[in-house]
Parts: sequence; C-alpha cells; structure tokens
Amino acid sequence: MKSLSIYAKLLPDCPGRLIRAAELAMERVRPHWARADELVLINQAKVLRAFQECQVSDIHFAGSTGYAYGDLGRERIEQVFARVFGTEAALVRAQFASGTHAITCGLFGALKAGDRLIAAAGTPYDTLRTVISGAPGSLTEWGVTYEESPLLADGTVDIANVVRLAQQPDARVVFIQRSRGYSLRPTLSVTKIGEIIAAVKAANPGIICVVDNCYGEFTQEIEPSNVGADLVCGSLIKNPGGGIAPTGGYVVGRQELVDRAAARLFAPGIAGEVGANFGINRLILQGLFLAPHVTGEALRGAQFTAALFAELGLSVRPTYDAERYDLVQAVELGTGEGLVAFCEAVQKASPVDAHVRPEPWDMPGYTDQVVMAAGTFNMGSSIELSADGPMRPPYAVYFQGGLTREHVVWAALNAANELMARGHL
Ligand SMILES: *Cc1c(COP(=O)(O)O)cnc(C)c1O
Repeated sequence: MKSLSIYAKLLPDCPGRLIRAAELAMERVRPHWARADELVLINQAKVLRAFQECQVSDIHFAGSTGYAYGDLGRERIEQVFARVFGTEAALVRAQFASGTHAITCGLFGALKAGDRLIAAAGTPYDTLRTVISGAPGSLTEWGVTYEESPLLADGTVDIANVVRLAQQPDARVVFIQRSRGYSLRPTLSVTKIGEIIAAVKAANPGIICVVDNCYGEFTQEIEPSNVGADLVCGSLIKNPGGGIAPTGGYVVGRQELVDRAAARLFAPGIAGEVGANFGINRLILQGLFLAPHVTGEALRGAQFTAALFAELGLSVRPTYDAERYDLVQAVELGTGEGLVAFCEAVQKASPVDAHVRPEPWDMPGYTDQVVMAAGTFNMGSSIELSADGPMRPPYAVYFQGGLTREHVVWAALNAANELMARGHL
C-alpha cells in the first residue's frame, strides 16, 4: 500500500481533491524544475565571472556617509552590474526608492520638453501611469508628448504600429515593459524585445529604447541589454537583489543615458559622484551573487502554483509548462472575495507578520484599490514571496517571488485549502 501522501501529512484536514491535485502538480513540474537547474547554472556562472573580473574584495563592503565622493564599493558594484548586463555603464543605488523611481530617472534623463515617448506594450504598469501624466511633476506636465501603442487582440505587441509611431519626427523614446504588470497579457521574452528594438531602430536609428526589466532579471540566459536596449531599469527588492539587498534600484545601459539618469537622481553636474551607501554594499553584492539561485527558486514555485491551480480548475497565466520570462504567476480568482482569501492565506503562510490580515487599500500610485500579502524580511520586497492584485475584474492574483521553492509550495497549498474552505474552489 502507498504510504500517506506528503500533502496529507502537511495538511491533515484538507480535502482529498487538494491532495490529488498537489501530487499531480508536483509530478508535472518535476521535468520543468530540472530544466531550471540549467538556467540557474548559466546565470550563476555569469554573475561569478563578473565578480572575479572586477576583483570584488572585502574593502568594497565598507560603508560611506555624507557626500560619499569616491565610494570604492559603490563604484565596484556598478562595474559588476555593467558586466552582468553587458553594458557600458550602471547606476546601482540605495537612493533609488523603488523600481518605479529608477525607471522615472531613466525616462526623465532621456527625454526633453518637446520629445515624444511611445509605450510599445500598451498601458504601462500602474505606478508608471502617474509618472507619465496626471500627477504633479509628470512627464507630460514637463512638456513630453505621450503615445501608447495598444496591444493586439491576443495581447502581443503591434510591432508595425510601434514602428509607425517611432518614425514621427519628435519620437525620442520607445518604452518596453517586459513583465505583464497587473494585466494578463503575455510577458515579453528577451528575443521578442530584441525584435521590437531591431524594428524601431531600422526605421529610426536615433530612437532610445528603454526597458522596464522588473521581475525579468535572470529568468532567461540573456537580458534586454544583450539585444540592443539602450537603457534597462529595475528594482533591487526584486530579482537582482536576491532577497538580500534591503532597498535600491538599478539603471544599466549606454554611458550617456546612465549619466543622465544619475543627473536626475542627484543633480546635473554632480550626477553619480555622490550618494552614501549606508553600509549596504555587502548586501547588494551578496544579493546579486544569490540572485540567479533565488530567481530559480521563485520560478519553480510559480510553476508548481500554475500546475496546482490549473488542476483545480482555475485559469492561470502562464501555464506550468510554458517558457517563462518573468517571475509573475497570475491566477484568476473571479471575485474580490476570492482574491482577498488567496492573499490572506499567503500572508498566514509567511515567516514575518503571519498574524496580520491584508485588506484592500488605496495604495499611492495605483488607481484601483490593491490587496497585498507580503510577510517579508525587507519591507514590501517582492522577490520574497508576495501575492497581490487590484480589486478589479477578473480579480486575478499576481503571485511572485519566494526565497525557497518550499515556501512557495507551502503557501500555494494553503491558498488552495483556504479557497476551498470558503467555497471559492
Ligand atoms: C514591480 C514593477 C515595477 C516597479 O515597481 P516598484 O514597486 O516601484 O518597484 C515596474 N514595472 C513592473 C512591470 C513591475 O512589475
């Protein structure tokens, strides 16, 4: 006789249907987990090579204060990032408060009054909408014209239309968002991003291609900067921080554009020559060292989650067997109650703040109420396991991160159990 399923041991009172779904899901994802081993190894080697070529040493872990002119560690970190991403320059700073802030500095640096900004992949992520227009200090208030190329009916980028928009005489920046954000459109692969860049540059060689790389780092063997992106931006409390970096963001790309982003972050002229590291250099470096592995853990957790909830009858994106280009797993819950129940269960399965109950709230920068579960060591870190979503149809939860695959599996099982107990599954 077969011994008691591991899932029955973990969740003794859960329905048999959940145990069978979990067993099937695990069986299905095993071969995909094995494939992720290769991706992690390739990216680990890439990161190690960069550390070694840049001769990272313990002197680079030293803290700095005040203006922090000539912070050796800060400079070394930026050399390492530039090597990992294959770019001329990098700006990796604690002073970037978030991914949105890094992208904002990149865009304000690249654009001048009278220039046109073109979003290639439909409406950008919620927090970037107010950066573009509708809030004091936005790009359009500053004299930038904005235009969006709507996605095609299947959610893919209308490259012909982006090329047409990029040929206008005032067109200056094409903005490409890799990850889906709070939408169900497919995430762009680096290859697809390369196709878009090649097409717009063939039509307008002077155009600047800026990529929002949030959640995408290390999910593939190459990055958007390897396929012609002029500037690539992201957050250190997502993939490249490895769950260790306590805050910060990065901008990598052409020297001139990175310098202009630094001029926006700090001050023109002073640019990136200042900026104390608050003693987090070691954490940024250790986080980058761990980032390929941690990203692999999160990817495997997302695959299991996709297989589990698909087996239980919900619509998931992407499916467990799809190629992945970011960490985000969307699961359509269909109701606000279902979305909240999912987030509550993930919060309860967290190492930190498991006792608090997430509620939908008017989060700064978002138009709809958002419910967020994040019981994290670094506040709001979404390379650590988090689940969130806007309170709007189809009430999809966006589930991402996880420092260990086991934590993700445990949280997904608990979320499914909770949804069943409340009659949503
Ligand atoms: C997370 C994310 C951002 C930036 O979010 P922050 O919370 O500001 O770091 C930008 N774009 C996308 C697609 C994202 O997923």
